[in-house]
Amino acid sequence: MKKQKSIVTEYPDICCLCNRIAEAEHHLLFGSFRPLADKDGIIVGICNEHHTGPGRVQDRIHDNPAAESLSKIAGQLAWEKHAVAGGMTEPESREAFRKRYGKSFL
Ligand SMILES: [Zn+2]
Ligand SMILES: [Zn+2]
Repeated sequence: MKKQKSIVTEYPDICCLCNRIAEAEHHLLFGSFRPLADKDGIIVGICNEHHTGPGRVQDRIHDNPAAESLSKIAGQLAWEKHAVAGGMTEPESREAFRKRYGKSFL
């Protein structure tokens, strides 16, 4: 499938959890945050098994509350890192994330 640009990884075709071929892409900030994550490239490659199943819930990133929370934290950190690389200070990037996404996961 055609992957979008990612500011998180240079390997969007590889599953971020197991290094196998990624059939899907996962927006680290998903749900209502997904449209912005899409624009911002907060995306990683993921295999179907680790994305939405059909295996055990603890093996996939969705429907697993701890994995979903860590996904959002990782997405925020990636976004802030990118903002700092663009010239913001760390506190400025936190505030800018809060403004853009409406909340902080950290
Ligand atoms: Zn995988
Ligand atoms: Zn996903």
